[in-house]
Amino acid sequence: MLNEKVIALLNDQINKEFYSAYLYLDIANYYIDNDLDGFGNWYNIQAQEERDHALLFLRYLQQNGVKVTLEAIDKPAEVFEKHIDPLLAGAKHERYVTSLIHTIYEAAYDVKDFRTMQFLDWFVKEQLEEEDNADTLVNKYNLFGDDPKSLYLLDQELAARVYTAPSLTL
Ligand code: MG
Repeated sequence: MLNEKVIALLNDQINKEFYSAYLYLDIANYYIDNDLDGFGNWYNIQAQEERDHALLFLRYLQQNGVKVTLEAIDKPAEVFEKHIDPLLAGAKHERYVTSLIHTIYEAAYDVKDFRTMQFLDWFVKEQLEEEDNADTLVNKYNLFGDDPKSLYLLDQELAARVYTAPSLTL
């Protein structure tokens, strides 16, 4: 049986990942409203990935015989005024998620829960990629976003992103 504190953190992470999905849907919604459908596509796929993350945490707890409690998902409260704002919010949010994953890892480490640490390894690596992707978007927008033609091309680039299922299987 998993440690109570580790269980509580893993259970809460399900909610946090669903919130991430909700935040990214909200961001996709902002861009689609502003006729930047490529940015919208990128964040819609990001939302799908976050839902996958939530389900991976859910599945892990189920496999360990834990009864999962699903809590209410917060309303995304960010206000986006400029096209850069959602990108900055996304990058900031990924750093927060990294801190959450590290907190769970620390709790698992404290009780020598090697199984949970091994499960979390994938997420530790995934967060590096998420932060890098988010920062790259911010940097590209800062380089090209002010020029309409370049923004159009960047939007087309982001329209090409396709969804792939996570490599982690349980
Ligand atoms: Mg995630």
